[in-house]
Amino acid sequence: MPHTGFVKAIKLTKVSGAYWRADQTKAQLQRIYGTAFFDKKELRAYLEFIEEAKKRNHRKLGTALDLFSFHDEAPGMPFFHAHGMNVWNALLEYWRMEHRAAGYVETKTPIMLNRDLWEKSGHWANYRENMYTTVVDETEYAIKPMNCPGGMLLYGVKPHSYKDLPIRAAEIGLVHRHELSGVLSGLFRVRAFHQDDAHIFMTPDQIRDEILGVLTLVAKIYSTFGLGFHLELSTRPVKSIGTDEQWEQATNGLKQALEAYGQAYKINEGDGAFYGPKIDVHIKDALGRTWQCGTVQLDMSLPERFDLAYIGPDNQKHRPIMIHRVIYGSIERFFGILVEHFAGKFPLWMAPVQVAVLPINDELASYGQEIVHLLETNGLRAELDNRTESLNRKIREAQLMYVPLILTVGAKEKESNTLSVRTLDGKVRYGMTHDEFFSRTLAHIRERRLELTVFKE
Ligand code: ZN
Repeated sequence: MPHTGFVKAIKLTKVSGAYWRADQTKAQLQRIYGTAFFDKKELRAYLEFIEEAKKRNHRKLGTALDLFSFHDEAPGMPFFHAHGMNVWNALLEYWRMEHRAAGYVETKTPIMLNRDLWEKSGHWANYRENMYTTVVDETEYAIKPMNCPGGMLLYGVKPHSYKDLPIRAAEIGLVHRHELSGVLSGLFRVRAFHQDDAHIFMTPDQIRDEILGVLTLVAKIYSTFGLGFHLELSTRPVKSIGTDEQWEQATNGLKQALEAYGQAYKINEGDGAFYGPKIDVHIKDALGRTWQCGTVQLDMSLPERFDLAYIGPDNQKHRPIMIHRVIYGSIERFFGILVEHFAGKFPLWMAPVQVAVLPINDELASYGQEIVHLLETNGLRAELDNRTESLNRKIREAQLMYVPLILTVGAKEKESNTLSVRTLDGKVRYGMTHDEFFSRTLAHIRERRLELTVFKE
């Protein structure tokens, strides 16, 4: 631009020291960071977005809400606390329910497998610098960076007929990938994580329906978290294995599934993997940020390398079509995204602590414990706060932890066998019967409702 007067909306954000051409023998310079927009309104919206994103930072909330931590003893490998595990288990319980309903079986394979396997899968030649390896009884092993080879071995355990297909074998697999320490970032970029993997084995004419089934499951699961998404199809790259015919069949199968699904999608020409085309699913969080989480990947390489087969109606051996797919992707990363998406205020069904029980004095502590027990036997996650603190302070602290339901327990509640329920909107309901409390909260949880307000009227 001719001069800086043309900049209508500018904000300096940061200064730091720098050396001329990064040479420490040269004079120190000031580096000034800033951002500019076409008008003040756009600038303000941007700054508000940055502020909001900072408040939602999952690392900050992870500490404040006692969900997870990192330790120098295992860089890039998160430690989940009891409260974090409550959220984790709620995520997986829900995942298992949806997968059972969609006809998946669940499997589990070891995290350490020998070098022969990784040579067969191609990882030893192409992915070794990201793998942790070790030697046991003079044999080289690697900690798995992906679940696939184990899944291939499982398919090969017994012969298959076309009548067995499709096989939808899911695995919550713990994988390790070596990332440089400089790129590690909270739960978003880690060295150890779980994938909600599944391998689907099928005949060529099942591609469309199976991919459509995955897309339908993806939509169902994301909508439960209030996450929108868009789809991208990546097609054959220049360097690839397989015949033209195989690629056409595979890519058409994916396209037909996308057409049948009916949502507009973007095509990334030549962006597929060398072993097959794929569909990536990008979610959109509450701040409008997008994250690639789900992926559906067709693989023409591994069934070949592991010589997988099924017997067709013609009594001949055929090669199954195989897809890899994840929905959460890295569960750790998805967890981090959800912390930021909900700004730490999880809906009741996911909340680390669903009910805080606060006796108003020490005499009522044992009755408070009875209430906690009653809540737990009804399937709720409850905690007792029997510290000798003022009730107001205990309420305030439970609210800061975003506990959706706070029960204050006094003599009146004990005598009348009722509950006083405080919700995060600050409203208090006195004299609620146990029956009413359980029927309403359990329905809210069962339906996995997103509204923070548990009791509307
Ligand atoms: Zn896989």
